[in-house]
Amino acid sequence: MTGIDVAAAQDRIRKCVHCGFCTATCPTYLITGDELDSPRGRIWLMKDMLANPAAPSSPRAVQHLDRCLTCLSCTTTCPSGVDYRHMLDAARAHIASTHRRPWPERLLRAALPAVLTRRRLLRVLLRAGRLARPLAGLLPARLAALLVQVPDAVPAIGLAERRQPVQPDRAIGRVILHQGCVQPVLRPAIDDAALRLLARHGIEVVITRQSTCCGALDHHLGHEAPAIAHARANIAAWEAAGPVDAIIITASGCGTMIKDYAALFAGDPAMAARAAAIAAKARDISEFLATLPPLLSRLAPGTPIAWHAACSLQHGQSITAQPRRLLAEAGFDVRVPAEAHICCGSAGSYAILQPELAGALRARKQAALVATGARIVASSNIGCITHLVRSDLQIVHLVELLDWASGGPAPAGIMPPTVAPPPATGPAPSDH
Ligand code: SF4
Ligand code: SF4
Repeated sequence: MTGIDVAAAQDRIRKCVHCGFCTATCPTYLITGDELDSPRGRIWLMKDMLANPAAPSSPRAVQHLDRCLTCLSCTTTCPSGVDYRHMLDAARAHIASTHRRPWPERLLRAALPAVLTRRRLLRVLLRAGRLARPLAGLLPARLAALLVQVPDAVPAIGLAERRQPVQPDRAIGRVILHQGCVQPVLRPAIDDAALRLLARHGIEVVITRQSTCCGALDHHLGHEAPAIAHARANIAAWEAAGPVDAIIITASGCGTMIKDYAALFAGDPAMAARAAAIAAKARDISEFLATLPPLLSRLAPGTPIAWHAACSLQHGQSITAQPRRLLAEAGFDVRVPAEAHICCGSAGSYAILQPELAGALRARKQAALVATGARIVASSNIGCITHLVRSDLQIVHLVELLDWASGGPAPAGIMPPTVAPPPATGPAPSDH
């Protein structure tokens, strides 16, 4: 049986010694200054909640736990190793089963994963959203926040969604590329760049037909049944693909979820070992590329790049050095903004559900990125890339830059003034 283990959640809560170190790195506490918007305050609320699992969640606990970004900055900071993430999972599932939200809230929370996990439906609604954007000022804050996320144009379907991987002449490895749900619709160029880059490294890529959303969108809303259904479908699809070296993920939010499949199925003896085997194969693309010999770069060295470390990458997966090293090896001048450990406010559907806090965090992050002096920002998560959009910044995925440097096209919106002549020695990078 899967589901939430209340006793285990209570054990995790007991590890907290209330030292408060985590409050200094909690984005919501930095913005509101309210102890109940800090990890320590939320742990106190969860302790209260889980002490009587049969009772409905209090509106106060719901309000402050809803405001948590699940950025996991507190987990990185905590000296006692408190497993905040899994206790929050338990609390969110508890809220979903005991608390009746007002109907507009219920509708929005049901509609978000239903729409965002269906690519065709999402494309249709994005096109409709473009037409409705001029009305954003007349709409409630949450609907306006939704329209702000609508891109100027909905891109055409990319190579990966057509399942047309770019294969190397001679493969030295074989991987699955996880596509996810939102990213192929909003920015198919990311997976297209990943395909070219992996082929250039000599890696064969498999794109599985039956795989789906990683489950994170539902999981963060406390909707355990659909999250488990998505994970189950992915596990079956990836097992059917045969032996691979890794499951490559280009959206770090998805990577954090897939790497945690073992915990999701910990109470299910029929699935636990299968989920653990899949989770052990999951790799963020930066993590995988860092194990391969670097490609020759055709860019003149020194183009300034600001590196925006998504929370799901730095706190969720503890991946910090590899992306910066890859960018530096490709010839970029990598700059790290102030408060790099603080969330930008994107956090999956958070920017839609908590627009005021998300907007304040976005403004703070954008200002820190602009202060680096770089006009190109690289990140690893589609949520951050769309959330941070600002006219004086070009926000792209890490693999788009690495692909460009090693022979691919310049990312959309970036002029290639720094392209140097091809190197005189070594294999010439090529477009595929
Ligand atoms: S979660 Fe960790 S850092 Fe925060 S109060 Fe508890 S023990 Fe201290
Ligand atoms: S996950 Fe992020 S927002 Fe939530 S309590 Fe921890 S640091 Fe604060």
